[in-house]
Amino acid sequence: MEKVKDLVCGMMIDPATAAATSEYRGKKYYFCAKGCKIAFDKDPEKFIRAEEKAESTQVSVLLLRWPTSRGAGHRSLSTEERDAHSEDCAD
Ligand SMILES: [Zn+2]
Repeated sequence: MEKVKDLVCGMMIDPATAAATSEYRGKKYYFCAKGCKIAFDKDPEKFIRAEEKAESTQVSVLLLRWPTSRGAGHRSLSTEERDAHSEDCAD
């Protein structure tokens, strides 16, 4: 069984052995202890938003790395192409 994250304490837990579950906006959340569920139920948005923020930070780090290396390669290629082209025009 795939493990899920207890958004309150950040622990990875098995849904089958979760001590408590909660449903929010049609999505099920699992918790390692009743205390975590109670904390989640008090302010679900806080924990969901914190989790989404953590995920989007990881994604933007990946996105930042890709265009940098690809962009550098593309720039040098287009410079060579431009140079070759301007030589053709001069002659
Ligand atoms: Zn927990």
